[in-house]
Amino acid sequence: MRLLHRFLPLLVLAACRAPTPPPPDPALLDPVARRYLTLVLALGTHDANYVDAYYGPDSIRTLALAESLSVAQIEASADWLIAILGDSIPRYADSLVALRHGYLRTQLGSVAARARMLGGARLSFDQEALALYDAQPPHFLDTHFDSLLARLDSLIPGREPLALRFQRFRDRLMIPAGRVDTVFKTAIAACRARTLAHMSLPPGERFDLEYVKGTSWNAYNWYKGGYRSLIQVNLDFPIPVDRAVDLACHEGYPGHHVYNARLEESLVQRRGWSEFSVYALFSPESFIAEGTANFGIDMAFPAAERTAFERDSLFPLAGLDTALAVRNAAVRIVVERLNYARNEVARRYLDGELDSTAARLAMARYWLTTPEAAAKTLRFIDAYRSYVINYNLGHDMVAAWVARAGGDSPEGRWRVFSELLSSPRLPGDLQ
Ligand SMILES: [Zn+2]
Repeated sequence: MRLLHRFLPLLVLAACRAPTPPPPDPALLDPVARRYLTLVLALGTHDANYVDAYYGPDSIRTLALAESLSVAQIEASADWLIAILGDSIPRYADSLVALRHGYLRTQLGSVAARARMLGGARLSFDQEALALYDAQPPHFLDTHFDSLLARLDSLIPGREPLALRFQRFRDRLMIPAGRVDTVFKTAIAACRARTLAHMSLPPGERFDLEYVKGTSWNAYNWYKGGYRSLIQVNLDFPIPVDRAVDLACHEGYPGHHVYNARLEESLVQRRGWSEFSVYALFSPESFIAEGTANFGIDMAFPAAERTAFERDSLFPLAGLDTALAVRNAAVRIVVERLNYARNEVARRYLDGELDSTAARLAMARYWLTTPEAAAKTLRFIDAYRSYVINYNLGHDMVAAWVARAGGDSPEGRWRVFSELLSSPRLPGDLQ
């Protein structure tokens, strides 16, 4: 007894020092990653919008297509891989490998959910947002949007209906068709310079700009690999001058083009992680892509700098009244918060609470759009469904993450933002 008492502290110490298992071999993830890549390409044969970008070898795509997997087989394969990855993330020596493990598990969960949907499963808006994008969109009451409309009413005073006043105000901001290209290229150059001041870009990166009509979106970045993108801008409707900075940052610098190029450089080229050569549109990666693209506008152009740039550079180039720039900046802040109304209309419409006419009316009320623009937004919702959360909730979650992890200094915030653009971090990693 006495002896045991004497040795007890040593026994406890020995137990505490019991060797911990060695970290798992990161290479064990490679076969799972290769199969994930195949499943995404296979799902693309059932959903034309699903594979947004793929720049890996053609031979992998050929093999994926040759398997002719059904959506049920894709779902079962994804579930099987998730089981292999397990419920928790092992202690890897390299934190980026841990993020990769989590990325594969979460993306595979989304692949299985999309396959289920394509097989006929019906999910509510909120269920779909969680299953596809790993995010839970907030709910807002109409009173929230009514109070924003009241604020807008005070910024654009008058006796006519607010929607009419708002449209007339926006009409004064439209870029004449012949000046669109010059204004856009000026905005792109400014966004690129401001991005390059804080982060490196892969050598030879560039994008081509094209103007198109008849699409359901306003602008799109098609990543081609090799640090190249094709950015298309829809000219169905006149473009207000402040969309130039929005689109140049969102689609280009430091938005989609930079995110794709940095992922290719950091993860595909340097690490050989082939799964990042494919981009599944309806997946949590899009939450980060849209969130960083939208928050990238704020990073490149903090509010006051943006207003000054628009007033001193873009408004004159477009031949617009520079006195409107400051008021437009105040209007924009309110309109950006009204953006969440699109989520609410989409939720109620897709959940069957609103028919298409009622949804268009609600869109026109809270987004102050013309009936034609509201119809176009509804076409977007029909095609992309709960994807709409990625823009506003994505922005807000990325903004909160950068503020929390990067601190108050611009250097710290750019460091965290740059890391996010070249890592496998997903919405669940922004907590
Ligand atoms: Zn986007």
